[in-house]
Amino acid sequence: MTITSFYPTPRTLMGPGPSDVSPRVLSALGRPTIGHLDPEFVQMMDEIKSLLQYAFQTKNELTMAVSAPGSAGMETCFVNLVEPGEKVIVCVNGVFGSRMVENIQRLGAHAIVINDEWGTPVDVNKVKQAFKDNSDVKFLAFVHAETSTGVLSDAKALCAIAQENSALSIVDAVTSLGGVELKVDDWGIDAIYSGSQKCLSCVPGISPISFSAKAVEKLTSRKSKVPSWFLDLSLVMGYWGGTGKRSYHHTAPVNSLYALHESLVMLQDEGLENAWQRHKNQHLKLKAGLEKLGIAFVVEEQYRLPQLNTVLIPQGVDDAAVRQTLLNEYNLEIGAGLGGFAGKAWRIGLMGYAARTENVTLCLAALADVLV
Ligand code: PLP
Repeated sequence: MTITSFYPTPRTLMGPGPSDVSPRVLSALGRPTIGHLDPEFVQMMDEIKSLLQYAFQTKNELTMAVSAPGSAGMETCFVNLVEPGEKVIVCVNGVFGSRMVENIQRLGAHAIVINDEWGTPVDVNKVKQAFKDNSDVKFLAFVHAETSTGVLSDAKALCAIAQENSALSIVDAVTSLGGVELKVDDWGIDAIYSGSQKCLSCVPGISPISFSAKAVEKLTSRKSKVPSWFLDLSLVMGYWGGTGKRSYHHTAPVNSLYALHESLVMLQDEGLENAWQRHKNQHLKLKAGLEKLGIAFVVEEQYRLPQLNTVLIPQGVDDAAVRQTLLNEYNLEIGAGLGGFAGKAWRIGLMGYAARTENVTLCLAALADVLV
């Protein structure tokens, strides 16, 4: 058999990510590859840094893009900051909080786990109590927007608690960046990571991160070596410009960084507040349409993520069959439920370029057809 070129069927991506990539971003991806130390490329990296500072609303010097997906952004935060034996209060209200626990435990650190029910936000009072009950806690880690449940937690309040207790905050903003309000400096976030494939309308595989001055101080005063060579920021920053001169660390994903640059230019041109509002508006349109179809939300209104709508599968409906029909007949992808929500809920994403009226209209029309 001769294998020929791969041409995927174009889909509308309304799941938990990757989400629809803007055509502008796809076209940036196809621009000629140049060297990863070419002066033009290095200048573009500087622009990515400023654009990320805007997207994160920070002046943090250490702001860059990790050459790997959101999970690597998560590991970058933990391996650089957390040392064996240190205490981390970690909030778990879905899949990604559990992954933080894994990271902490694999580093030989002590995870003080605060569990909240799936579908509910992190309970701020439990976090306050955990700080009272435990001395010498170095970090508070939590997920701002839990993609497994569609819940938004109060990052501002949680970071304030960390600060009151002289702990550093580590925040997962993979699904929140570009989709809902997020203010790194105002809220006093110390280490944050995101992903390119959600509300930034970019291709998967890049993880923007940002570290505050306090986080950098923790990194530079480590007693032990960072246990990952690839993710060691003191080495990576030699390439991203932290030391003033650029030296080879790894071969950057050149074209993917063109894509990220384009997506961030789009965000800058639209304006952050407008992007947050667009996600909200499209969520409200989707909500109105779903309610007409008799489909209810899992999460209480005030904690709902506009960019990730977790809804109950109507009684008697075959979850997998519906999603298969949407994919085969409408080229529309929506997400299955995870964990306790498997078979009970769907996750309908409105992330980045997918947060548009035509997507909402298609999704509602397709569901109305399939559910009759
Ligand atoms: N954190 C959250 C909240 C996510 O939604 C995801 C991916 O969906 C990740 C982390 C991991 O990102 P990636 O799949 O890009 O490695």
